[in-house]
Amino acid sequence: MKYISTRGKAPSLSFSDVLLAGMAEDGGLYVPEQLPVFSQAEIASWSGLPYAELAFKVIQPFVEGCISDADLKQMVDETYAVFDHSGVAPLVQLEQNEWILELFHGPTLAFKDFALQLLGRLMDHVLAERGERLVIMGATSGDTGSAAIEGCRHSEHLDIFIMHPYNRVSEVQRRQMTSILADNVFNIALEGNFDDCQEMVKDSFADQSFLKGMKLGAVNSINWARIMAQIVYYFSASLAVGGPHRPVSFSVPTGNFGDIFAGYLAKQMGLPIEQLVVATNRNDILHRVISGNDMSKGALEHTLSPSMDIMVSSNFERLLFDVYGRDGAAVADLMQRFKTEAVQLEPARWDSVRALFDSYAVDDATTCEVIRQVHAETGYLLDPHTAIGLKAARECWKNRSVPMITLATAHPVKFPEPVVKAGLEAPQLPARLSDLMEREERFSVLPKSLAEVHAYIASHVHRD
Ligand SMILES: *Cc1c(COP(=O)(O)O)cnc(C)c1O
Repeated sequence: MKYISTRGKAPSLSFSDVLLAGMAEDGGLYVPEQLPVFSQAEIASWSGLPYAELAFKVIQPFVEGCISDADLKQMVDETYAVFDHSGVAPLVQLEQNEWILELFHGPTLAFKDFALQLLGRLMDHVLAERGERLVIMGATSGDTGSAAIEGCRHSEHLDIFIMHPYNRVSEVQRRQMTSILADNVFNIALEGNFDDCQEMVKDSFADQSFLKGMKLGAVNSINWARIMAQIVYYFSASLAVGGPHRPVSFSVPTGNFGDIFAGYLAKQMGLPIEQLVVATNRNDILHRVISGNDMSKGALEHTLSPSMDIMVSSNFERLLFDVYGRDGAAVADLMQRFKTEAVQLEPARWDSVRALFDSYAVDDATTCEVIRQVHAETGYLLDPHTAIGLKAARECWKNRSVPMITLATAHPVKFPEPVVKAGLEAPQLPARLSDLMEREERFSVLPKSLAEVHAYIASHVHRD
């Protein structure tokens, strides 16, 4: 399979090259030239497969020609064996036809483990084959960083530098990153916010000369392989509640539009999905685009759901590419204008977006209220991101005879503040993390200066 850039000017690449490159040279994001499409009969035949076997079926067409079936099989087996629930992505029923898809049974208790546990293995595999090393640089508002570090800590071919906004991630999140003392893991606490971190990563990719010949790789969801891995659980959830014969709907707490975009792809690949609900917090640009064709940046607000505190949702560009008939020049023009001004989609394009997605934005007070109410009614404790997803699901759900599945993107223990605000007791750390608060930490606080960050990375990276 070949991959092309959403801005139409970068060369098309193989899966392995896209895996290591991250962003395209022309500033665009890579997408498959053509999606695999599965028949209903084929999807139905996967019913009852263990998660890792289903993952193999869904992922194999995307890596064909680069990764052998045997290698892929081994990597997905290893990846999903580290999850501490035998179902990997279990469903919990809250009410009639209302389900929660628990995606937090991986090592860092958030859904990002699904992709990053696999990404680390895939990168290591390709680098070993090529006899190369790669420097990973990533920005995190919390969950990406710990999941990426967990995914890369055992690699012999990767150094990983993760920037988080200093004092702006929860203590559990920080400790999950900074207590990994492997000598290829570097945590930078940047004196800025998440968008500052993301901006620095983007600038570093654009000019990698500070690495003196070494190359950067990306673990943010601009990396295609992350999206690819996330497509799988839409299939597993659907199959578990009667798909593909029965359509299902999904509600997805959204920040960078990566997770929900994977759901859109599952639908394009033949999975019957009736509704895809984009759930946002007060940083609601996606809700404003979908509901009112208003693609304008507001000031970034800090909310009780920090993993969704994002104003520029990188993966939305992948959707725009499809909606604009895969016209890279049109996407490049739109993204260029969006840098400096508010933009609107052409009316017909906006109609296509609205036909594909519903959306809803939830504020902090409502988030806490949903946590309190669901706990009172069912005893189930939601994390704030999931609470936003559930609220949006309930507001947007059109046909109650179609199952509505809300993606539970994190374990509530990662975000105790809204739980306590909801008048509930903060949950206990699960066994695998019970000593987290005593573990030794290691990180460096750096000023918001690209030159200082570059000097730090250049002086710590391992060269052959
Ligand atoms: C990353 C994250 C999100 C947002 O996912 P995107 O793919 O960026 O849309 C939502 N909830 C949690 C807990 C996350 O860690």
